[in-house]
Amino acid sequence: MIAAAGSGERLGVGGPKAFATLAGRPLLDHSLLAVAACEAIDRVVIAAPAGHLDTALQRLAEASGLEGEAVAGGETRADSVRAALALVETELVLIHDAARPLVEPGLFDAIVARLCAEAEADAVIAAAPIVDTVKRSSRPHQGAEAGLVEATIPREDLWAAQTPQGFRTERLREAQARAESAGSLAEATDEASLIESAGGTVLLERSPTSNIKITGPADVRLAAALLAGPRRV
Ligand code: C5P
Repeated sequence: MIAAAGSGERLGVGGPKAFATLAGRPLLDHSLLAVAACEAIDRVVIAAPAGHLDTALQRLAEASGLEGEAVAGGETRADSVRAALALVETELVLIHDAARPLVEPGLFDAIVARLCAEAEADAVIAAAPIVDTVKRSSRPHQGAEAGLVEATIPREDLWAAQTPQGFRTERLREAQARAESAGSLAEATDEASLIESAGGTVLLERSPTSNIKITGPADVRLAAALLAGPRRV
């Protein structure tokens, strides 16, 4: 499943982020090309912005040649994923953000292989060690002021959760339903956190440093440079 229903406001391209151009192709194409090169994937569900379902299906056909469906996303990422998960019929599901176009096919395959090999795992997620020193601020990110430092958080066991994230589909459906009844689904910024709240087991899969997230215009330039290089880093 590809979550591609974001508005792209922070990118400022005047349309949905998934269709912004990166290296001559819509952002979504890059994830679809990686998906098409995977052994484990033969069907894709895309959560697309309402009004852009046909474009999403066209990109799916042209970039991947795989079968699939598109569904209108919701208010939040968690809502979009929930809507798309309703169309998933397989025992395992991989969820990936269109905002990470440099994902490598091997990462999808590695996550599926671990889900198959490790019976106790409800989920396996791509993640990268935190390399910066981490400060807690007195204010949230969104505010005009960055605030003052309240604490430094030891980073040696901190990881940044990314996508792809792989799940046993029924476990994820149960965890979503549980969060929905508790009124906390919309706050979930990834699906692994729903499994954690439900007491499930989530394993980390170290991802390449190239698996960056496109948020602002500088990220597009960085991604384009990485794509143009002789090989991914
Ligand atoms: O906004 P953010 O960059 O965190 O979004 C991460 C991913 O979730 C993006 O690929 C975006 O398209 C997707 N998303 C979504 N539905 C929303 C908001 C974000 O599918 N309502």
